[in-house]
Amino acid sequence: MSVRNVMILGSGPAGLTAALYTARANLKPLVVEGYEPGGQLTLTTEVENFPGFPDGIMGPDLMEAMRNQAARFGAEYVSGNASKVDLSSRPFTVTVDGGQTYQTKAIIVATGASAKWLGLENEQKLVGRGVSSCATCDGFFFRDKDLAVVGGGDSAMEEATFLTKFARRVTIVHRRDELRASKVMQDRAFQNEKIDFLWNKQVVDVHGVDEGQVTGLRLKDTVTGEESDFACDGLFLAIGHRPNTEIFKGQLSLDDVGYIQAIDRTHTNVPGVFVAGDVQDLLYRQAITAAGSGCMAAMDCEKWLEAEEA
Ligand code: NAP
Repeated sequence: MSVRNVMILGSGPAGLTAALYTARANLKPLVVEGYEPGGQLTLTTEVENFPGFPDGIMGPDLMEAMRNQAARFGAEYVSGNASKVDLSSRPFTVTVDGGQTYQTKAIIVATGASAKWLGLENEQKLVGRGVSSCATCDGFFFRDKDLAVVGGGDSAMEEATFLTKFARRVTIVHRRDELRASKVMQDRAFQNEKIDFLWNKQVVDVHGVDEGQVTGLRLKDTVTGEESDFACDGLFLAIGHRPNTEIFKGQLSLDDVGYIQAIDRTHTNVPGVFVAGDVQDLLYRQAITAAGSGCMAAMDCEKWLEAEEA
């Protein structure tokens, strides 16, 4: 089996920027695209905060452009998910979808993080039609609308507070009567006149599939079990993200939530394995920061390969 120079796991902004840089360094990277080729941006509509697009760009179009740009310099793609990696000996082995295996001298992990969803059928049908997991991405489209934010952590407080810049009212729907968010974030939300709270409520359905746009929620009281309807134009989920690191457990150093811990810039605890994007970033989680870290990982990887072969 031929041994690749570098494989990139993930095809969001981090993975595709790493692909572009390693391709231009003549390393002929192989990108394993993952379950969601293009990553989380393919789930959004218009992206207005990626520099260079004064009129905005649709998320899927931006990702296709990044993919084509890296391909132009020789990046190759394999569809499917990296289902197994063996980092215990070099060259490393990567298995895609439990079948095809590849060997590679270096790996850039850019498998991202996935927003947690409630898991409701109509929620998924209305993603991009009023249901969103990213206020920074989609808040702007809800000027003077009534919105619901689900969650009781820092993300929910932050997203709700951010959404009040646009929305008429924002209602935080939380399944308990106590927030998990830090005191300072709670206070900011409590003091915001545009924010209301609905306590002890679980969203059990999302209305609006027939209309093609969210029209409201079906709520269940977690104490009494009573159900009620709540009218709103948008639903923002802020119930956490899950880093896509299952296959690295026991091999790469992860923090207690599961994010990969870089030990020096983009180097991980395994020499030859680099990390970029949301899979190591709990804080910024932006396309542009992911792209920047993909560039850094590619440059670190290139230097490491050079030193290995010297
Ligand atoms: P989080 O702290 O895990 O909070 C998730 C919230 O969603 C919890 O209130 C939880 O309810 C609720 N939840 C989870 N699953 C749910 C479900 N199926 N249905 C309804 N509600 C559900 O996540 P996060 O807010 O994204 O924060 C993650 C980490 O990032 C935290 O460490 C946070 O401090 C940090 N963060 C920091 C900032 C900042 O400092 N600016 C901003 C954002 C995030 P329960 O409380 O009942 O479990």
